[in-house]
Amino acid sequence: MTNFETLGLSKPLLRAVEAEGYTTPTPVQEQSIPPLLAGRDVLGVAQTGTGKTAAFALPVLQIMSRNRPEGKRRIRALVLSPTRELAAQIDERFSAYSEHLDIRHKVIFGGVNQNPQVRALQKGLDVLVATPGRLLDLINQGHIDITNVEFFVLDEADRMLDMGFIRDIKKVLKLLPKKRQNLLFSATMPSSIADLAGSFLNNAVKVDITPKEVTVDRIDQKIMFLRKADKRRLLVKIIKQERVECGMVFTRTKHGANRLVKQLDQSGIAAAAIHGNKSQGARTKALAGFKNGNIPILVATDIASRGIDVDGVTHVFNYDLPNEPESYVHRIGRTARAGRTGIAYGFCDDSESGYLVGIQQLIGKEIPVDSSHEFHFIGAIPKPGQKAGKVKDPNASKKKPRNRNRSNQGGGRNNRQNSGNGGGQNNRNQPRSNRNGGNRSGNRNQSRNHRSGEN
Ligand code: AMP
Repeated sequence: MTNFETLGLSKPLLRAVEAEGYTTPTPVQEQSIPPLLAGRDVLGVAQTGTGKTAAFALPVLQIMSRNRPEGKRRIRALVLSPTRELAAQIDERFSAYSEHLDIRHKVIFGGVNQNPQVRALQKGLDVLVATPGRLLDLINQGHIDITNVEFFVLDEADRMLDMGFIRDIKKVLKLLPKKRQNLLFSATMPSSIADLAGSFLNNAVKVDITPKEVTVDRIDQKIMFLRKADKRRLLVKIIKQERVECGMVFTRTKHGANRLVKQLDQSGIAAAAIHGNKSQGARTKALAGFKNGNIPILVATDIASRGIDVDGVTHVFNYDLPNEPESYVHRIGRTARAGRTGIAYGFCDDSESGYLVGIQQLIGKEIPVDSSHEFHFIGAIPKPGQKAGKVKDPNASKKKPRNRNRSNQGGGRNNRQNSGNGGGQNNRNQPRSNRNGGNRSGNRNQSRNHRSGEN
């Protein structure tokens, strides 16, 4: 049987891994560590939760500690990550894995004072974990030199592109030395990522850990059909009935997340929101409160939550079903981590039935329906033969064509793709739904939110 020793890891790393309680390598570790130790580039299709951080951090640390150049430390490994939270988590993993090695690492990201980061950089580092914006900022200010980088890791590449970081990535690539080992990890492999990978990976070993194998089996998934206006009451009911002490709730918009936190508070449930409009301090505080158990419910948008690694999340609520099926898999992967089990509830209203169809196509099975609640609404069930994706908005004809284009880019509620949905009952329900779930700043802002990635 494969273990970390047979993968070729050195003693100091084996000790660190043992201290973390890892006994068996995960599939992405099993497949990535040997080629990385042999000096190959790796293209990994794997999402957070698969153990991919150790898959790249362990071999990079091992090769780096084989020889350390004389003199002041220079950045030899650069890890780019899309969000601050994920960057901080990767850095925290580097701390754990390099416990018995002479390696200095640091994370930098925007939204906080740069001075402590600059001071750490001036002392000299071996590993730098960074978000693209702050990295380029400090490079431009002359505080960072990446011309000695031997390992370049691009993590969550698909999310990087979603967040509009492609130009920044290309700028960074231009500044890196030609001779280096490259690692690219992405949860999905659309052609844009394949192109990007092709532009800088050399003869990479492809490691493909599909979401289905990763998380879905240990998660008890349930779909509940209901009206949008009833979502809050059902959520409160389940949280109270099941005495949820560590649950994540996903909303589509930042406004929706804020509003829900207030509503939960009114129902006596402590919750905090995490999304890109929050200051770094507020995000850190919310996450810390959630991690230490003071705040039982974390309400999050997709990108802000991406990669958040909190052990012991028992419940995930898809309060709004995501318009990208892959996001569903990421979201539910926040529970059932590190061998545990978890429950994932999906709340599907009549405007989201097409999203459910897309999700079920991606995961390759139908999610069991729980209709044993008082809000069950048959109008939200996908129609026979319904296509994946957006559901026609019965109010569509009232809106101007200019808005149509904007909405279609982002995939919001205001779309016009035909799906055959929209019976009398649904129509009647729609204005109420819009009022309850809508973005007060109007359709235009809503579309902009979708395009800007909701972080
Ligand atoms: P990642 O996908 O890197 O975010 O890792 C997800 C979680 O799995 C983290 O909490 C890791 O500490 C944990 N983990 C990573 N590798 C293993 C392993 N081989 N066995 C058990 N847990 C692991």
